[in-house]
Amino acid sequence: MIECPKCHRTERQHRAGKTDSGSQRYRCAFCRVKYTPNPKPWAYPEEMRRKALQMYVDGMNLRRIARHLGVHHRTVSLWVKAQADQLSDPPTPEQVKEAEMDELFTFIGEKKNKSTFSR
Ligand SMILES: [Zn+2]
Repeated sequence: MIECPKCHRTERQHRAGKTDSGSQRYRCAFCRVKYTPNPKPWAYPEEMRRKALQMYVDGMNLRRIARHLGVHHRTVSLWVKAQADQLSDPPTPEQVKEAEMDELFTFIGEKKNKSTFSR
């Protein structure tokens, strides 16, 4: 049974889409709080994920990013893959090897540098 973390009611808890990491989100009809009852183990704060992706686009490798943020490099790899899915919609993301991901992000990085040519 789903329970609102704020008012602790179990009735009228509606599904409200999914988080970036794929966890089901719910919304309480009484206090309108949105929450995720069972966050996935690799669901880290959005802020940290953004930081990791930014460092990746800037050319830092997965292991350095992972060490810098104190997360496992597989976690960073998952974030990068999830982001690549959103940006370019590759046909079989599970089969994309890390070497290919590097090429993809080099490409995205170049595109980004051209559009924001400020540094
Ligand atoms: Zn509530």
